[in-house]
Amino acid sequence: MPSQPRVAVIGAGLAGCEAALVLSRSGVSIDLLEMRPGRMTPAHCTGLPAELVCSNSFKSVGLHSAHGVLKAELAILNSPLLDAAKRTAVPAGSALAVDRLGFSGAVASLLGAEQRIRQVNAEVEAPPAGYDACIIAAGPLVADSLASWLGSRGHGDSLHFYDAIAPIIAADSIDRSIAFLASRRETDGSDYLNCPFTEEEYQAFYAALREADRTVAHRFENEQFFEACLPIEVMAGRGEQALAFGPLKPVGLIDPRNGKRPHAVCQLRTENEQGTCYNMVGFQTRLTIPGQKSVFRMIPGLKNAEFLRFGSIHRNTYLDSPELLAPDLSFRDAPTVFLAGQLCGGEGYTESIATGHLAALFALSQISGRQPDPPPRESALGALLHHVTASPVKPFTPSNVHFGLFEPLPDNGKRIRRKANRMLLCERAMTSVENWSTTLRRPFAGSNF
Ligand SMILES: Cc1cc2nc3c(=O)[nH]c(=O)nc-3n(C[C@H](O)[C@H](O)[C@H](O)COP(=O)(O)OP(=O)(O)OC[C@H]3O[C@@H](n4cnc5c(N)ncnc54)[C@H](O)[C@@H]3O)c2cc1C
Repeated sequence: MPSQPRVAVIGAGLAGCEAALVLSRSGVSIDLLEMRPGRMTPAHCTGLPAELVCSNSFKSVGLHSAHGVLKAELAILNSPLLDAAKRTAVPAGSALAVDRLGFSGAVASLLGAEQRIRQVNAEVEAPPAGYDACIIAAGPLVADSLASWLGSRGHGDSLHFYDAIAPIIAADSIDRSIAFLASRRETDGSDYLNCPFTEEEYQAFYAALREADRTVAHRFENEQFFEACLPIEVMAGRGEQALAFGPLKPVGLIDPRNGKRPHAVCQLRTENEQGTCYNMVGFQTRLTIPGQKSVFRMIPGLKNAEFLRFGSIHRNTYLDSPELLAPDLSFRDAPTVFLAGQLCGGEGYTESIATGHLAALFALSQISGRQPDPPPRESALGALLHHVTASPVKPFTPSNVHFGLFEPLPDNGKRIRRKANRMLLCERAMTSVENWSTTLRRPFAGSNF
């Protein structure tokens, strides 16, 4: 174990500040390398650390929501940024929202109080030499220079600049008396659930889709879409039957209720091995969240759909992490370099803090010569880490934490209601992290954890 371990952290955003503080409090010397204010991103407005680029909300704190559990687990781990968020909170019902300047100021004070953290204003082009480890936390608006280094990992097609995300729905919220299992091709088995439209249902859905509110793109976001991932509402703009002949085509599908081919079909594809959640095939969208809820619930079988993840399309640089990263967030081809934050495919402020925290713990294990000690798979942290490093879904897309990523409860043959199931998942997750946190070792002198 090096006597004076040194780690470089690239990016003083949410993940980078969390990682730097966790490492510093464990006795590691940090160079925190940040390009702002010398060079700005298209969304940041200040030179402050941990600037929130859009909303001031870290989402729900409810202990029976996936977001709430993730925060509770971070609190168990003494997350410095979560603590700063709580100290600068503003009233926001069941959400944790902050005074954004107050929050960044609180993080700046925490960084300034750590003698082991040296803050350097520099744009970094590649992981610098001379450190025991490096954590890249340069965010979704990473500078082109470093993006080139990231793009040179893997086979050259592992770096993505936009995401095109379709909503994900909880399996137990789909009406199975309407949706039926079948595939267009025999080779696909019964992996698809099909929501069949009559002509009238399709027309009503189409009219609502055309009317629904859309999110406004940021100035720096290119409105040109690839043909393969056009937003569903843009495709609909090509004519009333464009969807029925495109992603909603009913070819090869017979509704078992009447033995007839539906007018159109929305296909849902299993999103995880356990079949607890389904992806709406072809439904990448820029509709607002209320728009998605009201329009997509008009799809037959989805009236009571629980959306685990909403659809989106936005500028979002991220890597194909399951291909490139080891289970401890280090690059398979550069084991002393770790990836954290939005770049690794955890979507959202709290998720970025979480992967920053985990990357710091993993870097700590590595430089002290210990095996990585990952969070339990049944925890929200473990679920997020599993998505980022081992998601089987291709193409890989970033995700916020949601129940579909959690390890399901063991099947004891009894039917549990959805709410009760969620409560059990949350309780199991927090207990597992409480137990795990007592086993974590933070080995360096001066650790004040
Ligand atoms: C426009 C936009 C809006 C978003 N809105 C939300 C939202 O409302 N809610 C939500 O939960 N999530 C949102 N996200 C997603 C995500 O949660 C945030 O982007 C979050 O800040 C990501 O945290 P991070 O630590 O990965 O990156 P950041 O917080 O962006 O931190 C990365 C840091 O790295 C620095 N940097 C970049 N390249 C270099 C380099 N080469 N050298 C040195 N420094 C560098 C940047 O200046 C930045 O300070 C949004 C993303 C985008 C792009």
